[in-house]
Amino acid sequence: MNKEDIINLNVGEVLFDVDLTKYNTYRISSLASVLVEVDSVSSLIKLLVYIKSNNLKYMILGTGSNIIFDGNYEGIIIRLSKLNNVEITNSDVIVEAGYNLTKLANLTANLGLEGLEWAVGIPGTVGGAIYMNAGAYKKAMNDNVFYVEILNENLEIKRLYLKDLEFGYRSSVLQKYKNYTVIRVALSLKFGNKEELLQIIDDRRKRRIETQPLDFPNAGSVFRNPSDLFAWKLIEEAGLKGYAINGAKISDKHSNFIVNHNNANAKDIIELINLAKESVKKKFDIDLVLEQEIIRGTYE
Ligand SMILES: Cc1cc2nc3c(=O)[nH]c(=O)nc-3n(C[C@H](O)[C@H](O)[C@H](O)COP(=O)(O)OP(=O)(O)OC[C@H]3O[C@@H](n4cnc5c(N)ncnc54)[C@H](O)[C@@H]3O)c2cc1C
Repeated sequence: MNKEDIINLNVGEVLFDVDLTKYNTYRISSLASVLVEVDSVSSLIKLLVYIKSNNLKYMILGTGSNIIFDGNYEGIIIRLSKLNNVEITNSDVIVEAGYNLTKLANLTANLGLEGLEWAVGIPGTVGGAIYMNAGAYKKAMNDNVFYVEILNENLEIKRLYLKDLEFGYRSSVLQKYKNYTVIRVALSLKFGNKEELLQIIDDRRKRRIETQPLDFPNAGSVFRNPSDLFAWKLIEEAGLKGYAINGAKISDKHSNFIVNHNNANAKDIIELINLAKESVKKKFDIDLVLEQEIIRGTYE
């Protein structure tokens, strides 16, 4: 990888040997060889053309609120935080992938548009929310999506509609085709009562503060809930509530959260994940499925 070449592409801000601590919500420290904040969709395409023609490793990173960086990332991390335009016409929203989901939920509710109240408190980007089909309180992105614009493997812009997106519980077609990049999303909301929507948002926000360990770095739910069961309950009944490995701990407040309570590293978190899986398997014969994503890197 040639540093000069990447700078000369002129595709946005380029950083080298970047400490990733502030780019993941667990606040785990590791290094990325390169991090690029692309300044437009055409810059993104230009960068991806360069990456593909040089056969380089890359990933798209949102706010890193569902990610565990296990070691140094020897490749190019692409962030879309500059792709953050939003256009609202009547109750239809077209929003770029780098826009913050909580911000979008607050914006639309304040305009009296109903549909995203559940999303307040989810710290990810719109692109990450599509990838994960993020959801809460029995609602999810798939309830509002009209279409998603992606760059496909040939770097063509394509529209995917609900039938193509294969949304499921915390899953979407994007997890199957890792070389698709979400660039823009069209959402169909409904006209609602602004005061009622803001009331719901306030209620959801309070519920999160009451039930989630938001005072420590974390990345939301660690495991997906098995059908008709709660992962937190299984982990708690397996006796792991409050259990710590070095700086990582299964939260005392919500057992499906791991918190970085004292300079945890990825290994501490992954060890806790494995322990929770093994303990729940042993006690209930249930296989917990990870919701968070481990990005394997290198350790010198
Ligand atoms: C306090 C807290 C509360 C949370 N609550 C919830 C909740 O209620 N419900 C819920 O579902 N989740 C929740 N989460 C988890 C997390 O916020 C979501 O999974 C979110 O959708 C991840 O978005 P992100 O932008 O941070 O993605 P990242 O973590 O940065 O990335 C996740 C994956 O998405 C891919 N990706 C990101 N952007 C794009 C793109 N534009 N195109 C293609 N792929 C992309 C990445 O490559 C990666 O594979 C919570 C997290 C925290 C810290």
